[in-house]
Order: sequence, then structure tokens, then C-alpha cells
Amino acid sequence: MTWETVIGLETHVELCTKTKIFCSCTTAFGGEANTHCCPVCTGMPGTLPVLNEKVLEFAVKAGLALNCAITPYSKFDRKNYFYPDLPKAYQISQLYLPIARDGEVSFSLSGGGHKTIRIHELHMEEDAGKLIHDPWLDQTKCDYNRCGVPLIEIVTEPDFRSAEEVIAYLEKLRSTLQYLGVSDCKMQEGSLRCDVNLSVRPAGSQALGIRTEMKNLNSFKAITKAIAYEARRQIELIEEGKPVVQETRRWDDNKDATFAMRSKENAQDYRYFPEPDIPPIELSSTYLAGLFKQMPEMAEAKQDRYQAQYGLPLYDAQMITGQKALADFFEECVRLGTEPKQAANWIMGEVMGALSEAGLEARDMKLSPATLARLIALVREGKLNRNTAVKVFFAVFADDGDVDEYVKAHGLEQVNDPRALAAAVEKVFKANAQSIADFQAGKEKALGFLVGQVMRELRGKADPKAVNAAVLEKLKSF
Ligand code: ADP
Ligand code: MG
Ligand code: ZN
Repeated sequence: MTWETVIGLETHVELCTKTKIFCSCTTAFGGEANTHCCPVCTGMPGTLPVLNEKVLEFAVKAGLALNCAITPYSKFDRKNYFYPDLPKAYQISQLYLPIARDGEVSFSLSGGGHKTIRIHELHMEEDAGKLIHDPWLDQTKCDYNRCGVPLIEIVTEPDFRSAEEVIAYLEKLRSTLQYLGVSDCKMQEGSLRCDVNLSVRPAGSQALGIRTEMKNLNSFKAITKAIAYEARRQIELIEEGKPVVQETRRWDDNKDATFAMRSKENAQDYRYFPEPDIPPIELSSTYLAGLFKQMPEMAEAKQDRYQAQYGLPLYDAQMITGQKALADFFEECVRLGTEPKQAANWIMGEVMGALSEAGLEARDMKLSPATLARLIALVREGKLNRNTAVKVFFAVFADDGDVDEYVKAHGLEQVNDPRALAAAVEKVFKANAQSIADFQAGKEKALGFLVGQVMRELRGKADPKAVNAAVLEKLKSF
């Protein structure tokens, strides 16, 4: 029997507002434990939450970017449960009237092809605190700094069929939210976290199988491994005639396996009821139209424009717009006068290479567009050859060093002196009679060797095209 994997995602994204969702405490990541708190976000009796308008704005913008219908009249609800990271013993969330519904997200897959995932809903809620377990002292410490940090939860329909689709969706989601400027989506800091709901069914079947929900997935790698593991576990159970139990499972990154955490709870377990302390939100059409006007140019629009305005191939446009910081970097290089295709080549080659080597994201890179633009200009003006420029690039990359100073300090300027070139050719030809004979006997390789020797003689600083031409010219004279 062939099996099909069916996956739906619930993704929590921390919004990058300055203050929390219902009080004016800072949302800054980290900080000494319990220093970003006040009576409101720690749920002291008698306090009143007040909705941060920026949270509403960011949530609506995210809803619009995910092609959702915005709910003009929405409400908050209380989700009641006791856990030590939640001092109020309830979370303010949205159950009945989420701020946005019925969206869709399209993205391309790395193996080619396109996929569209339906968004069931997007709602606002508050984050909980953090528990720090100390196995040495056998203690658990509570840090409430994260209590009340604004979240949006984005729930998809069960439309994914593979880990590859899940990752491509999350990358698209991350890029979209970064373009919007509503979240930094740093998985390693927990500002994008995702729960994976997974079931399996015989290929071709329409009915959904019984699912499990996996929590604690904090990297793309963990998500990919967890999906493979859980699909196999469920298939094995069914093939052995055993039932799959609907439950919440925890992914253990050290053991590469999922473990049962608790049986799946239902909405009624949480005793949801309308939040009495926050009035309903009514959005006027003027307000919505205002936000709509503020929507920035997103990745797809940029891709179209880069092709039309700069003549970039689709592939280049997709690579560069994959991260907003790269797109900004590219546009600034072009504004500084760099030929667009040149800028694209350097960004896709050296810049992305250096970033991945350094384990950096584009938005954390120090290299400025002005530095790259200057380097490319030196190549175009014939002052540096391409290979030397690459060396200079890697030398200045980490600290955004001064290109001109570096070139001067290391004597790297391209030698364009025809006499120096002629002298080098002369010297190399004298020393390599055999190679000349080889070339005349039809051994093409000998040409490359001679060019390489002349280049070496000029300490790599000559224009390769000029060297090639000079060597060919000289060979004709034999
Ligand atoms: P709950 O309210 O219990 O969390 P939801 O209906 O909100 O359940 O679904 C949560 C997530 O699980 C959604 O992303 C949904 O697409 C996904 N999901 C629901 N049923 C299945 C299933 N049988 N297989 C895979 N995913 C599912
Ligand atoms: Mg749910
Ligand atoms: Zn507070």
C-alpha cells in the first residue's frame, strides 16, 4: 500500500512591536529574568489590559499579505488553563472571531512546481513566560519577561503533503512577514515557532486520518526529521493493525524521535469565554483602506519589476528577493550606479557564499552596498581584475573594510601597462619553448599554461583578456 502524508501547520509569530500586547512593558528579547514585567502582564487582580493598536495594525497587515478576509468585528476570548509559565491561568486569545480568515499562500518548490496552501485563520494572542529547568538543583525557575509579548497564530488547512512543502511555506511566510516589517521571524530566538499536525492515509483516499500534533520544533532541520519520523511511526502502527492515538507529541532533537506528551485537548477543555475586559474591535473601511495603502512592495512584485526594469532573469530576481535585506542591498547598489546584472551576480555568488560561510543572515551583515558598488566599479574601470576583486571582497566582507585602502595597501591594482605585459610575455616564451611547440602540435592546453605563466609573472594583477590576447598574438608569430 502507498501512503500519503497530510500535514497542517499552526505557526506562532512574535510581532516586533516595541511594547507588549496589553501593557507598556518592553518586548525586548532576553534581559534579566522578570525585569520586563508589570502587574498587567503578570495578571495581578484588579488590573485591566488595553490593546496595543500597533498589534492590531501588524495583525491586519499580515492578514492582508496572506490574502485573508479581515474580520471587521472581532473579539478576544479567554483560554483557561493552569501552567506555571502563565501566571494569570488564562491566555487572552481569539477563538470565535479571529481577526483574519480564509487566506492563501502560494510559493514555488525547489524541485520545480508551485503550491498553494489555504490559510484557515490568523488570530492575535499573548505569549506565555518561559520555564527554565535546572536539573542540577532539581528546580524550575519562572521568567515572565515573555508574558504578554504579542503573537499572531496562523493556522493552515491540512494542505501539505511533504516536509519539502512545509519548509517552502515557512520560508515564504518568513519572507512575507519580514517584508511587512511585522516580525523578525528568528527561529533560534523563538519568534517563529511551529506545531506540526500530521496524519497518514492510503494514497488516493479523501478522508483524513487520525492526526498527532508535534510541538517543540525549533529549526527547519528538526521539522524535516520530525515529519519523516512521525509519518513512518504512524504507517507502521496502521500496518500492524494498531490505532493511531490523537495526541500531542514532543519532538526530541537529541533522540531523533517523538514522544507522547498528553492526549489531545479540545476547545471545550479550555473553557473559552469572551474576554470581558477588552471591548470588541470594530474596523472602519477607512482604517482598512489606510493600512492597505501602507502595504510595501512584496517579493513577487519586486521580482516582476527587477525583470522588467533591470532585465534580470527570473532566477536572479527570485534569489535576490528571497530575503528582504538582500533586495534592499541590491536596490541600493543599483542606486549607487552599479549595473544591475553585475550587482545580481556578486550578490548571488560572493555575497551569499560569504554569508553562508559565516553562518549569517543577510540582515546581520556588515558589508555595505557602497563597498560592493565601489569594488564592482573598480573592476569595470579596469583597475582590478575580477579574481583579485574577489580576494578583496573576502578581505573587506566581515567588517565592511575600505576597498581603496585595501587595494593600495596590498599593491593590487591591475597592471594595464602594455610594456610590462609585453616584457612578461617575452620572458615566459623564452622559458617555455616546449609549450610553444605543444601548442603548434595542436595541444590547446598549452595556451592556458602560457597565459597562466604570464599572469603569474604579473602577480595575478593583469587583465586576463589582455593577457590571453597578447599570448595568442605572440603564438601567431612563431
Ligand atoms: P484544534 O482546534 O484541535 O487545534 P484544528 O481543527 O484547529 O484543531 O486544526 C489544527 C491544525 O491541524 C490545522 O492546521 C489543521 O489543518 C490540522 N489538521 C486537522 N486535522 C488534520 C488531519 N487529520 N491531518 C493533518 N492535519 C490536520
Ligand atoms: Mg488549534
Ligand atoms: Zn507589563
